[in-house]
Amino acid sequence: TTTVPGLSRPVPTGLFVGGRWRAASGGATFAVLDPADGQQLAAVADATPEDATAAMDAAHAALPGFAATPPRQRSIMLRRAFELVHSHADDIALLMTRENGKALPDARAELTYAAEFFRWFSEEAVRIDGDYRVAPAGGTRTLVTRQPVGVCLLITPWNFPAAMATRKIGPALAAGCTVVLKPSEETPLTALLLAELLAEAGVPDGVVNVLPTTAAQDIGATVMADPRLRKISFTGSTAVGKQLMRSAADQVLVSSMELGGNAPFVVFDDADLDAAVDGAMLAKLRNGGEACTAANRFYVQAPVADEFARRLAERMGAVTVGRGDDDGVTLGPLVNEATVAKVERIVRSTVDAGARAVLGGERPAGPGFFYPPTVLMDVPEGSAALVEETFGPVAPIVRFDTDEQAVQLANGTPYGLVAYVFTGDLARGLRLSEALEFGMVGVNRGVVSDPAAPFGGVKQSGIGREGAHEGLAEYLQTRYVSFPL
Ligand code: ADP
Repeated sequence: TTTVPGLSRPVPTGLFVGGRWRAASGGATFAVLDPADGQQLAAVADATPEDATAAMDAAHAALPGFAATPPRQRSIMLRRAFELVHSHADDIALLMTRENGKALPDARAELTYAAEFFRWFSEEAVRIDGDYRVAPAGGTRTLVTRQPVGVCLLITPWNFPAAMATRKIGPALAAGCTVVLKPSEETPLTALLLAELLAEAGVPDGVVNVLPTTAAQDIGATVMADPRLRKISFTGSTAVGKQLMRSAADQVLVSSMELGGNAPFVVFDDADLDAAVDGAMLAKLRNGGEACTAANRFYVQAPVADEFARRLAERMGAVTVGRGDDDGVTLGPLVNEATVAKVERIVRSTVDAGARAVLGGERPAGPGFFYPPTVLMDVPEGSAALVEETFGPVAPIVRFDTDEQAVQLANGTPYGLVAYVFTGDLARGLRLSEALEFGMVGVNRGVVSDPAAPFGGVKQSGIGREGAHEGLAEYLQTRYVSFPL
C-alpha cells in the first residue's frame, strides 16, 4: 500500500489476484503521476503475462461457485459495495483527483455515478428473466434460461477511473460472471481501492481480479488467447477497440465495445439560450472535456450563433482553473502531457485553418498539464477540432441555416455515440433525435449518462450497451432446453 496525501486510508498498490494482494512476478513497478504537478504519486505493481495467467486461473476457479450463488446473495454484495463506496466517498473522490487531475466536484459527481451502477445492478441481479413456451406443434416445451457468459476481461480508460470499472463489474457480478480487470496505467489506484471495497462487501476470492500494468498489449493478448476467457468488455479509443475486436475473433469472444465519440451539440434559433449555454457548460466542461460524451462540435443556427458564442465564452472564461482539490476549482489539469499536447495541436491547426479564438487558445507556462477553456468561432469544415475527438476544454462553433443542414453536419462523422439538441419545439427535437445517427440523444439536456439508461454508440463508437437492463444482458447468454411433455 501507499499513503496518498489527504486520504484517510492507505491505498493498495499491488496486483489483486485470487483475493490476495501481491507484487508483480519479477517485482517491477511503475509510477503513477499527479497531473497537477507531474510528480510521482505512487509506484504500482506492473503485471506481466505470467500474472495475467494467474488472474485467469483465479477467475476460472471461482466461476462455477460464483455462477451458482443465489442471485439474492450477489445482489446483497453489490448493495454493500454501493454503500461502502458512499461511506468512502471522500477518499475515493480525492484519489481520483490526485491520479486523474479532475476537479473535486467532477470527482464527486463521478463517485455518485459510479456507485449507482452497484445499486442498479444489485436490483437487477434478482430480476433475471426466463421463459417457458409451448412449441407451435405442441408435444414439446421450450425452456429458456439465462446463464452467466463466463470469465470476462474488462479493460477501462483513465477518464472515469471509478465509473468505467463499476459499469462493467456491476453487471458482470449481477450475472454471476468472474472478471479480470485491467485499469488504465494512468489511473490504476482507484480500481485497486474499489477491489478492496468489493472484497469488504463480501465478493468471494477470485471473482474480481485487478491487473495494473504498463504492458497493456501483452496482457490483453495473453488473456484473450486463453481459452477460458468468454467475453471482453472494453472502453477506450476506437483504434484500440478495432485491434481488440480482431483478437476477439480468434476465440469468437462476446464483445462489448464503448469507443470514441465526436458529439455534435446543435442549437436552434428557437432554443432557450440560457438553457443551451447551461447544457453546453455541462456537455463541454464536465470532466474537463475528457469524456467520450463531451460535446466536440457546436452547430448553432445563424440568427443566434454570435449571441450563443458570446454567452458561452463568458461562462467558460469565468471558470476557475487549478489543482483539482484547491477551493473553488472546477477545471483541473488534463491527465498527461500527451493529452495536453494533442489539444494544443488541434487548436493550433484549427486556428491555422482560419478559426478565430474568442477565448483561450494558448497553453499556459508552468508545471502540470493545464489547458485553458477555449472557444473557437468561424471554424472551417474539415478542420481538426471538428474531425478529431479533442478530449479537452475546447468548443469549436459552426453556423448553420436549415434543419437538414444541421442533421447532415451532425451525422458527418464515422462516430455515433451521443448528440445534443436544443430547441423550444419538442417535435423538432424528436424529429432530430430520429434523424441523428447516434446511440444517445440529449434533447435540451447536456448530460445523458444514467446507470438506468442504455449507454452506447452506433457506427464506429461501438457495439453493445452499458447500464439499464441492456447492460446486464451483455453478461448473460441464452440457454434453451427442449423436452417432450
Ligand atoms: P485512451 O486514449 O482513452 O487512453 P486507449 O484505447 O489507449 O484510450 O486506452 C484504453 C485502455 O485500453 C487502457 O486501459 C489501455 O491500457 C488499454 N489498451 C491500450 N492498448 C491496448 C492493447 N493493445 N490491448 C489491450 N489493452 C490496451
